[in-house]
Amino acid sequence: MLLLYHPEGKAERVDLCACLEPQLTALISGQEHLAEPCEQMTPAATVYTASCRTCGGPYDKPWRRIRP
Ligand SMILES: [Zn+2]
Repeated sequence: MLLLYHPEGKAERVDLCACLEPQLTALISGQEHLAEPCEQMTPAATVYTASCRTCGGPYDKPWRRIRP
């Protein structure tokens, strides 16, 4: 579980992705990129947040972009 704080002061409860096989996308420079879980933090994962298409939740573990 994660709390997102909005500028107007209210907090929203968000459930982190806990899928066994997350289907990840990351919004990078305004474009959606496919991503996959990986063992080590990647530069993109430190800057951008991936979210899961299956459950809609944010993914807080290491991920990397899938190169097309
Ligand atoms: Zn998920």
